[in-house]
Formats: sequence, C-alpha cells, structure tokens
Amino acid sequence: MSNREQSSIRQPDARALREILWLAVDGRPMPRLLAANGVIAPQSFEVPKTPLACFVPVEAARLGSAVGELRRTLGEQAYIVIACDRLSPAWVQRAIALGADDVVDPTSAEDVAICLARTRRAIERARGAQTEHACLAMERDYLQACIDNLPAPIFFKNADGIYVGCNGAFAEFIGSPPDGVVGRSVFDIAPEALAHRYQAADDELLRRGGTQVYESEVCHSGGTRRHVMFHKAAIKGGDGRVRGIAGAILDITERKTLEARLTEAAERDPLTNAYNRRKFFDLAEQMAEQARKDDKPLAVAIIDVDHFKLINDRLGHAEGDNALRMIAGTLEETIGKGNVIARAGGEEFYALFTDGSIAEAKRVAERMRVEVERICQTTALAALAGTVSIGLAGFLPLEEDLDEALKRADDALYRAKNSGRNRLCVAA
Ligand code: GH3
Ligand code: MG
Ligand code: MG
Repeated sequence: MSNREQSSIRQPDARALREILWLAVDGRPMPRLLAANGVIAPQSFEVPKTPLACFVPVEAARLGSAVGELRRTLGEQAYIVIACDRLSPAWVQRAIALGADDVVDPTSAEDVAICLARTRRAIERARGAQTEHACLAMERDYLQACIDNLPAPIFFKNADGIYVGCNGAFAEFIGSPPDGVVGRSVFDIAPEALAHRYQAADDELLRRGGTQVYESEVCHSGGTRRHVMFHKAAIKGGDGRVRGIAGAILDITERKTLEARLTEAAERDPLTNAYNRRKFFDLAEQMAEQARKDDKPLAVAIIDVDHFKLINDRLGHAEGDNALRMIAGTLEETIGKGNVIARAGGEEFYALFTDGSIAEAKRVAERMRVEVERICQTTALAALAGTVSIGLAGFLPLEEDLDEALKRADDALYRAKNSGRNRLCVAA
C-alpha cells in the first residue's frame, strides 16, 4: 500500500478492527451497501496477523500498482476485493490477473451480497488453514522437544537417504550442529567405508520394510570408539509406500565391556589368567570336530609341576601362587600359535597341539619343559624343584575321543614322574 493510500484511510470507528474492511482511497466514502452489510472503515490500520478481507476502491488507471502494493503490504493471507462501479469483463480479468481475489460493483446489492458471502467463506477457510498450520507447528515443536530431551541419538531420513530431522543427542554424537545434519546424507557425516555399510543396511530396510536391529562399532565425535545398537524402522506414508527411515542409537559400550569381563571370568583361571578347564574342553572339542572332518591327528599333554607341595611347604602358599603364575606364563609363551594351554586344576595344566604331527607336538612339549626349568633356575625354586613332568599322547579324533587320549597322557605322566620327574614321556 502506498503512503498516499495509507494516509487516506479514514472514517473513524471506535470499535475494534473487524475482518472485512473498507480501505478508503483518496477519501472515498464507503458505499452504502457495503456499510449496511457490516463492512467497516478503520480509524487506523495495522497489518494484522489473522486473515482479513479488504474492500479497496481504486482508479482503473492505477489498478496494477495498487493491487501489487496491497498484496505486498497485507500478505498472501489477505482477501483483496477491488470495488469499482464501472466493471467491464476486461477490467475484471485484469484485476484478477494482477492478484486481486475478487471484484465487486459496490452499487449492486446482488453483487455485494454474493461477494460478501464469498469473502466470508474465504476468511473462514484461511482461518481454518491458519489454525491447522499453527496446530501442526505446535505438534512439530512438541515432538522436537520430546526427542531433544531423550538422551539416545535419534534421526529421520527420507527414502533417498537424506536426513530430514534429528535430535540434539544425534547432532552431538556425530559432532555437528543440529542444522548441519538436515539436508545431508550419511556420506556427508560418516567416514566413507562406514557410510557404505550404513547405506547398505538402509537400502535393505527400505526394500524389506519393518524394523532392523543391529550392533556396530562407531567413532563418537569425542574421538572414542563406542559399541552401539541401531534400532531402525521403515516409515510408511498414508498410501502405504515407504517414506523413509526412523532410527535410534543406543550406546551399549558399558554392557559390552561388562559382557567381555564376564566372558573372561567364565573362561579364565583367576590366579594365572590361563584358560580354565571348561574353556579347554570347549576349544578342544571344536578342534577335535574340525580334525574329524579333516581326518587329521591331534595331541594332548598333561603337565604337572614337580614337588609342588614342597614349594608350598618351604616357601609358603603365596610364593607357591607366584610360582604357578610364573610357570603358567612360561607355558603360554612357549606353546606356540594355534595350540591351547589351560590350567586343569591345582598345579596341573592341559595342552592341546593342533599341528597334527606327534613329532612336532613332542618338540613343542619338550621346549616347554626346558623353558620352565630355565626360568625357575633363576629363582628360589631352583633349590627345591622348579620343573615340570609331561605326559603326551597323540590321537586321531575320528577313532579316539579326547577323554581316552587324556587318560593315556595321564599314564605317560605317571611314567615320567616314576622315572625321575622333569621329563617328557610319550604314550604308546
Ligand atoms: P609331584 O611331583 O608328584 O607332582 O608332587 P607334588 O607335590 O607336586 O604333588 P601333590 O599332588 O602332592 O601336591 C600338589 C600341591 O599343589 C598340593 C596343593 O596344596 C598345591 N596346590 C594346588 N593348587 C594350588 C594353588 O592354587 N596354590 C598353591 N600355592 N598351591 C596349590
Ligand atoms: Mg605335582
Ligand atoms: Mg598334581
């Protein structure tokens, strides 16, 4: 609206603004028919936020600029009616083409009644749309506040893999401001190799629908690696087509650490940290199964510390414990890759050799015996014993089970003890 038009708004009216207004241009009086139908002329005029209709008298020559200015001033919400008592079809067409919503001849009672009816309907529709829009905005703000208060990172993507929303925890997780996520893809926010993995998982979910839960190791923006669990769902629109993906990331690092500790506690001997008897049998059974498939031989050994009772008696139980730790460590270092050593109980260890040849198992077992002796020579154990005796038995898992082989190894150990200790005996 031009300054000239604004300053010419007149006809004082003490009442509050109503929705249908007569904006008098150049001091024009309000047509009687409009006034009779409740149209008012305000004393002053501010651009209102709510929808309103304006009846505006304009001269035909100024029609273009007047409509344009009014639209700019009042906004898209306003319903602009041009009032002119000399309406020709071309004039009407031009007014509409220039952006007026309606045209009325204010001297025609019929025209005014029809136009006012249309105007009121338009205002109601605009108000309905505005209310709906405000409700949607409130709902969206509320939902955003809800997810922003959740500690788990949450994100939404469309079917093209573009982020359309996230919460503060997600932005913090990936080390980006919240408005740096929306509009981008996983390739913009994750290292390429990881992004390919996530994209493959997303593609599968979009294709299959439903939900997807998987664990992954990710790099937190703080630089630490975290174990996380992704919970994702394919989101369908009203037409049943998949519109995108919603996901939440649960940090399970602490649970994983605890699980690892529990697993370790379940399979390791607390004194020496060697595998325990149960873990030995688990691993040995797996290896025997494989050897059966390959029709290959294995070998087992029982390794017993010599005169250990004497060590306890002379040096005390604590020193005995230290000796066990040291011997276990030495056996572990000497056994070689692919073989298994475990503390069977007391001062006794089991070994499983997977190379297949009894000659190789014998060589490794002998090296273990020599190494224990060598290490113990450097300690107070040397005066007492500080050696081990070993019974070794080769077996073909297809023909003999592990327990039988261990029994033969025990017999060989018995021979080693009886023939002077600190030696290796191989079962027949
Ligand atoms: P041998 O040469 O015939 O094997 O004689 P040994 O003394 O080693 O055998 P024996 O079976 O008589 O004694 C084993 C000793 O090992 C008895 C037991 O108190 C001790 N022992 C078992 N477990 C532990 C342990 O965890 N710590 C300590 N310090 N001693 C243990
Ligand atoms: Mg012993
Ligand atoms: Mg023993």
